[in-house]
Amino acid sequence: MTSSARPFVNRRLAEFGTTIFAEMSALAVRTGAINLGQGFPDTDGPEEVREAAVRALRDGRGNQYPPGPGVAELRTAIAGHQRRWYGLTYDPDTEVLVTAGATEAVAAALLALVEPGDEVIALEPYYDSYAACIAMAGGTRVPVTLRPHEGAFRLDLDELRDAVTDRTRLLLLNTPHNPTGTVLTREELTAVAELAVERDLLVVTDEVYEHLVFDDAEHVPLATLPGMRERTVSIGSAGKTYSFTGWKVGWVTAAPGLVAAVRSAKQFLTYVSAGPFQYAVAEALALPDSYFTAYRADLRAKRDLLSAGLQEAGFAVFRPAGTYFVTTDIRPLGVSDGFAFCRALPERAGVVAVPNAVFYDHPEAGAPFVRFAFCKRTTVLEEAVRRLKTLAG
Ligand code: PMP
Ligand code: GLN
Repeated sequence: MTSSARPFVNRRLAEFGTTIFAEMSALAVRTGAINLGQGFPDTDGPEEVREAAVRALRDGRGNQYPPGPGVAELRTAIAGHQRRWYGLTYDPDTEVLVTAGATEAVAAALLALVEPGDEVIALEPYYDSYAACIAMAGGTRVPVTLRPHEGAFRLDLDELRDAVTDRTRLLLLNTPHNPTGTVLTREELTAVAELAVERDLLVVTDEVYEHLVFDDAEHVPLATLPGMRERTVSIGSAGKTYSFTGWKVGWVTAAPGLVAAVRSAKQFLTYVSAGPFQYAVAEALALPDSYFTAYRADLRAKRDLLSAGLQEAGFAVFRPAGTYFVTTDIRPLGVSDGFAFCRALPERAGVVAVPNAVFYDHPEAGAPFVRFAFCKRTTVLEEAVRRLKTLAG
């Protein structure tokens, strides 16, 4: 996160400044550059889901405060989604909670489960709100760094094991992983699960990119592994799965005690949100398999287009197995400071990207890595590639 003079903000938040996504989207607007920085699609999700929202608005469903845990139709649909895709059974009344996007789910989970002074282990590079929410909860963040290995950023299980201390309260996981595009394997997750059971840890797992996996990568929800259902808070979001990032409909599934804990924090954050959109997302969750297959195929083609273009432009590319981001190494272009590179890129090539260094405790570890989003129209990606190729000289 970038820092700026903030005379009033308290010590817990002082280090965070303005989120990189806001900074980079503002840079794109200011310069007219193509925005491959902040991860949001430039086309909306399915028409029938939009229509469902319009219908809910018109029919007066959700225009007043919906119930605190979320509308029954959506909670039932979320439980149905977990059963349909993963064979996980959750009671819609006691084991499902609707939140204002995954962002609120992460915040409420950390605020509810972390005692001041507890250590929270997060995979580094980490999504920026994790660090801020751990700080707001009074916790101490302990990063475990994913490191490049054979073309992908991988988790070192020994490092993870060594990071656990008597003060570790929970593991905050994210798979498919933003910004690296890594999808943790069943073997890796099994080892994580064994560690969590052995050390009696809670796990909060951010799975917002659960449906965005490519080729032979498999998304394995941590809660499906032995011993994990009762200690895992799983987080999902309609933003990524249905291309409605502005609706901010997310959810938590977990055992009743964990959901009750998260709800106790959530009720004092937003209380409720997105009334009519909740009904629309309930319908979206019931879309046939063909929706998911087509969406994945479309994004895979876009991943391939942008990855190939970046490679031709001279970047080293970490081909993502999931998400809609591709991380690159800029050193083959003769530079190594991702921050400086991203700040200059709109002028040099008319494209905006995000420096991964902002997702690291030790920015030097992430310095040469730069993230590009490919959830954009094909013509936009083609134009971005054309512009980026000028970097190769
Ligand atoms: N977690 C990760 C890993 C993300 O990339 C994002 C951004 N989309 C979020 C959470 C936030 O999701 P939402 O927009 O549903 O709050
Ligand atoms: N998740 C999006 C990303 O990683 C951004 C969401 C946001 O701006 N908070 O780019």
